[in-house]
Amino acid sequence: MDSEAREKFIQAGKIASEVREFSKDWIKDGMLLVEIAEKLEGLIREKGGHPGFPVNLSLNSQAAHYTPSRNDKSIFNSKDVLKVDLGVHIDGYVADTAYTLSFDNSHKKLLDASKEALRAAIELCKPGQKLSNISATIEDTIKHYGYKPVANLSGHGVGRYVLHSDPQIPNVRFRSNYKLEEDEIIAIEPFATDGNGAIKDAEECLIFRFKDLRTTRNPEGRKIIDFVQSYGGLPFAQRWIETGLNISEFKIRFAIRDLVMNDIIKPYPVLIEKPGSFVSQHEHTVIVKDDPIVTTL
Ligand code: MN
Ligand code: MN
Repeated sequence: MDSEAREKFIQAGKIASEVREFSKDWIKDGMLLVEIAEKLEGLIREKGGHPGFPVNLSLNSQAAHYTPSRNDKSIFNSKDVLKVDLGVHIDGYVADTAYTLSFDNSHKKLLDASKEALRAAIELCKPGQKLSNISATIEDTIKHYGYKPVANLSGHGVGRYVLHSDPQIPNVRFRSNYKLEEDEIIAIEPFATDGNGAIKDAEECLIFRFKDLRTTRNPEGRKIIDFVQSYGGLPFAQRWIETGLNISEFKIRFAIRDLVMNDIIKPYPVLIEKPGSFVSQHEHTVIVKDDPIVTTL
């Protein structure tokens, strides 16, 4: 990693951290999720960054990948558990960070479980450390709090214009001889739950990523392909298309279905735990060092 890349990773992390901390004071119960998402994405741009992906606002048993559409009526209520997962990129260099918010104190232990797992895992982000030890630490910490880690959600490497690169960092024990190398950039994201400890894809899908340039006969599809090129392979929201192109949500959904079927864009469905359960998540982006650098601290 050259010094320019490093500076951009650090700067993206600083903006992500500032926006995350702002949101902790600013978000109130009763707010529309779409108001929260638009505010935080706007703040990222004001600070000179770009959203690395749509702000994810996943409630309760939703683990990840929910972002409101433009006319979404979903509200954050005082009993809810809200995962705020946000990304910033500068010139493609991404920072990825998340925390969980609830005004209901009965969820405190669940929130602490993923937070403490993240803290313990970051201490291990040193050159030569086995990835399997990080995963085991996350699993043990969450279980110590009396919850289950979500087994099929993972931390990940981060590259330029690539949000999820190798290695994968599972939140449960796994077999691997992979050892971290100095200057590797990884996002660690423990998920804790009182549900099954495994997520499934929901029907609903609001986030996508451009995959392959192919032709489509759908005229709205062609407009969407043009429009999303500026995201350079990073994820985008249906909402961004609704706002950016003057096309009805109905036509956009139809065109998106066509683009997914033709393998032109990749869908990221909402990921859901057991109905009625709760999920918490905390995430930081880390540069592997003897003294690990948390870019999103
Ligand atoms: Mn991530
Ligand atoms: Mn994230």
